[in-house]
Amino acid sequence: MSITLSIIYLISTITFVIGLKLLGHPETAKKGNSIAAFGMGLAIIGTIFLNNLEVPIFIYILIIVAILIGSVIGWLIAIKVEMTKMPELVSLFNGFGGASAALIGIVEYGNNQADITQVTTIIAAIIIGSITFSGSMIAWAKLNGSLKKDIRLPKYNLINNLLLIALIVFGFFIVNGSINGEIIIYILLLFSLIYGILFVIPIGGADMPVVISLLNSLTGIAAAITGILYDNMVMMVGGILVGSAGLILTFAMCKAMNRSLSNVIFGAFGGDSVAAKKGSTIGGHIKKTNPSDVAVLMNYADKVVIVPGYGLAVAQAQHVIHELEELLTKKGVEVSYAIHPVAGRMPGHMNVLLAESNVSYDKLIEMDDINPQFKNTDVVLVVGANDVVNPAAHNDPSSPIYGMPILEVEDARSIIINKRSMNPGYAGIQNELFFNQKTSMLFGDAKETLTKLVQELKNM
Ligand code: NDP
Repeated sequence: MSITLSIIYLISTITFVIGLKLLGHPETAKKGNSIAAFGMGLAIIGTIFLNNLEVPIFIYILIIVAILIGSVIGWLIAIKVEMTKMPELVSLFNGFGGASAALIGIVEYGNNQADITQVTTIIAAIIIGSITFSGSMIAWAKLNGSLKKDIRLPKYNLINNLLLIALIVFGFFIVNGSINGEIIIYILLLFSLIYGILFVIPIGGADMPVVISLLNSLTGIAAAITGILYDNMVMMVGGILVGSAGLILTFAMCKAMNRSLSNVIFGAFGGDSVAAKKGSTIGGHIKKTNPSDVAVLMNYADKVVIVPGYGLAVAQAQHVIHELEELLTKKGVEVSYAIHPVAGRMPGHMNVLLAESNVSYDKLIEMDDINPQFKNTDVVLVVGANDVVNPAAHNDPSSPIYGMPILEVEDARSIIINKRSMNPGYAGIQNELFFNQKTSMLFGDAKETLTKLVQELKNM
């Protein structure tokens, strides 16, 4: 490799690390993305033109045309995509990354059958790449609603785990030369694709973000493996960064949902956890309120904290909640938003949603920072959130969410809960907070109810 290319790879690697660091905060994320994309562009150009490839000019033309077509399609999709469709897009990108690794594996198997290290990386690239591809396509279909049912074969956990073991054993036999030939590689590809489908298809829609994060991490691992295959440092580092970042996010989500990773990987995922609904013994008297009374309460408050949840996203009430916040701020009330790490149905769901309506980032306070502030809060307005404020996570060891960190809203002086009914949230359990003496239930669709609340406040 030429010195110039090594320097280019070094610069690209540094841009990936800086980009990833900047992606950690909403304010710097855009800059981080551009820096890393610049580094990636540099690495691609360097790889094509400084690698002394002895190929006809026609191949260069093909590569450039392919890059142009891919870039235009990617650019068009990315500028058009709505914020709420982001998980679908990420899922597609993961799938394409996995497919690339699998295709590289297939092509390179023909050239490297004699070298055991190369064959090992090729087999790993084919297995991981194809699982990522077919799994991501199923995730994409589930997220966009074209695949609505969670299909569960009888004993699906057992079948999946046996198939995974069979794939690894099969791969091992190819590596040690017990079986070989082009056709064998296609059989491995086919069964890896089938495993990817079977792995994702039983998983409930609401668990899809964890799967996508896991698949994202697998894409990174597949890219890192192909980097080893080509002895390409920048590909390896890029893959390792994506793989480890995806894994850290997967762990963070599991922790925030109080699940172990083994529980996620080996099946008691989605359906089973929701099925762990317990017969509720919670009950009692609830107090109902209305927009006009809540408007009075808020008008005379010094400090209001808004807790957004999944229902806010469903109702698309992000703009009206921002209007409420601005109105209260003008009246001299201190307003902030309490953000739980798994509020909603995807990582950062509430941040993305509120950013769409131009809520200032410094108003979004994370769980650990806002929890001590509830004691000094006059009114907490919980909008379409349920599990993330359920005290059972602290008080009831038999609850499926026991141990999950929650927003401790019961410490506030008054609690207003806006939802449409007494129905439970995602975890399927009743919430004792609704029966708390300090709580008033503001029933109704979030958008309609908040619009009325804003109107009442304007009239005051
Ligand atoms: P929940 O699912 O616990 O509660 C949402 C509430 O919103 C429901 O109780 C529902 O009550 C209400 N709601 C629905 N539609 C409307 C509407 N139009 N207007 C007003 N209210 C509405 O959501 P949370 O955000 O509190 O908790 C998230 C849950 O999702 C957690 O259990 C978490 O573990 C899980 N999860 C999170 C992921 C993530 O990455 N963020 C990924 C996967 C799961 P009603 O029907 O009565 O209106």
